Amino acid sequence: MRKALAIDVGGTKIYNTLVNDKGEIVGEIEKHSTPKTYAEIISLFKEIIKKYENTVDVIAFATCGAVNNSNDGILGSTGNIVREYPKTDFKSLSTKPVYVENDANCAAWAEHIIGASKNCPYSVMLTLGTGVGGGIILDNRLYKGKSGAAGEMHFKINRGNKRKCTCGSSDCFEAYASGTGLRITAVETSGNPDITTYDVIEGLKNKDEQMTKIFDIWQNDIINGIIGLADIFDPDVVVLSGSMAEFVDTDYITEKVNTEIVTQPTKVVKAQAGNYSGMIGAGLLALGVKTDG
Ligand SMILES: [Zn+2]
Repeated sequence: MRKALAIDVGGTKIYNTLVNDKGEIVGEIEKHSTPKTYAEIISLFKEIIKKYENTVDVIAFATCGAVNNSNDGILGSTGNIVREYPKTDFKSLSTKPVYVENDANCAAWAEHIIGASKNCPYSVMLTLGTGVGGGIILDNRLYKGKSGAAGEMHFKINRGNKRKCTCGSSDCFEAYASGTGLRITAVETSGNPDITTYDVIEGLKNKDEQMTKIFDIWQNDIINGIIGLADIFDPDVVVLSGSMAEFVDTDYITEKVNTEIVTQPTKVVKAQAGNYSGMIGAGLLALGVKTDG
């Protein structure tokens, strides 16, 4: 069976494992702290690749940052990783083929092949974590746009309070729908500067009135974003993944979205491909695994 060495590159952690063409993890999951210098990141990549490249068909990167349409380099800046990272020449790292894709796009592909959007030609996936990632599948293909950067969830939610976003702009969907967004909504609503995301989630579980209200504001911001995405893409399904997705009520979100959209009814569901969906999707993409459609 063909397999890929999959490497997931984030701002704080780098993971690697082996993935086969069925989307199964067939190796150890190895976890590393993301080095603080560019030279150390490259030497970590080389060390991981040297250990496995003779046992795999392809090297697959799921990375932070938008990835070009030739799947070999990063476009623009990437937030919380060293400034030089986007200049990485991925192909030079191995004698085997090297394939690179954005981490959220990889996760969306994993859901499309083996997870919550399996058998759905049209889907949108949102990763609700510290930030918000996005991946769009249209007609069984990953939608990349003219440059490869499509699916960035920085469209504007106009609330007029100019909340700063990680991208440098303000009032982006990400600034509200992320875990960070929930914390800021909590601070703004409660007036308590020390309130945390954890406080809100605990309060929600204990049916605390104020925490439930804060959570509902946050969930409503997510609903508004999904309404826009559903109206634009008319998806079979909208998949919610990431650490914050476990707290949302997908039945409620589906109902609210379907009362507002002008396209045909859609479904909002939680992801099913697991915590390592980025590496699984990278492996499947790199191995050329597609659906029949
Ligand atoms: Zn933004």
